[in-house]
Amino acid sequence: MKVGILGGGQLARMLTLAGYPLGLDFVVLEPATDACAAPLATAIHADYGNGAALERLSKSVDLVTYEFENVPAEAVARLERESRVYPPPAALATARDRLPEKRLFRELEIETAPFAAVDDETGLASAVAEVGLPAILKTRTLGYDGKGQVVLRPGDDPLAAWDRLGRVPAILEGFVAFQREVSLVCVRGRDGAVAFYPLSENVHREGILRLSRSLADDPLQPQAEEYARRILERLEYVGVLAIEFFQVGDRLLANEMAPRVHNSGHWTIEGAVTSQFENHLRAITGLPLGDTAATGHAAMVNLIGELPEISAVLAVAGAHLHLYGKAPRPGRKIGHVTLVERDPGVLGEKLAELTRLVPGASGGVAS
Ligand code: AMP
Repeated sequence: MKVGILGGGQLARMLTLAGYPLGLDFVVLEPATDACAAPLATAIHADYGNGAALERLSKSVDLVTYEFENVPAEAVARLERESRVYPPPAALATARDRLPEKRLFRELEIETAPFAAVDDETGLASAVAEVGLPAILKTRTLGYDGKGQVVLRPGDDPLAAWDRLGRVPAILEGFVAFQREVSLVCVRGRDGAVAFYPLSENVHREGILRLSRSLADDPLQPQAEEYARRILERLEYVGVLAIEFFQVGDRLLANEMAPRVHNSGHWTIEGAVTSQFENHLRAITGLPLGDTAATGHAAMVNLIGELPEISAVLAVAGAHLHLYGKAPRPGRKIGHVTLVERDPGVLGEKLAELTRLVPGASGGVAS
């Protein structure tokens, strides 16, 4: 079976790596000629809006998926006319825009930070009055890794903040004084079967994920699964979905969701019976879902902007290195390293050793 992927970055690359043992082949549509999934697939290099390229893609594959949510809605709608597209385009439309995303959470009685839409100057003033400060002004679409966001503190000029975002449609969210950030990666098959990975605890710096750790038997797991189940069912979802939450006391506030495999689920490659990548492919191709149980305590450290000394990283016993084949550039995710240990104490020691080796990692490793 041939699977088409919109986007040819590291998520597409890891999907292909998980898919070959299942007998799948891949075609990626990706504008960048140096995209890191291109060497592992048949690559069509064209813009996502290129009609001829979309037609070539849909004609050459059995179904289409995507590795990021900023693909133009028209491209997906066009593909949907000729191919099966998973996850469903309605899920993509909701997740790519923070306003319908937050409204869906609210409708499903999933708690969020207070929020209000900002479309014009009057709307900005009333959003500030409604939500209060401190708050975060975020572009509704195209934001990622902390881009497209400005923190508004009491006394700041909201208009100046909105100017910095280019006065595009935005959402103002109350600033959450969270204890932790956690995410739930889950999967729903074409037959409606669902499975959930253990929660991940995530540490971000400058809006970029630095570290994820799997959480064993976390007391908030049932709450997260209940919220996820509502979303999966409402959207008649097929594939892997990731939901990011803020933990405040014993409550979870949903921040955002990603209708795709997710960076906070990379630890599942070695740390779960079936990885998120394999389960996404199983789900969209109509195969039974694989076991999502953890095989130990896992930690994943992102390699951002600069490579560590590879031989030193590999000298850490049990370190699993994943390099994406991308040129180092400040703020760019170029790889990750995963550790899985039976004993959480041993994991902590190895993680400390690893983070000393990875440029910029130690500031991101909160205990
Ligand atoms: P996002 O792009 O929404 O995932 O935001 C990136 C990061 O900014 C999050 O992982 C948080 O660390 C932080 N952040 C986003 N929204 C809020 C919020 N409402 N309150 C506090 N921190 C936030």
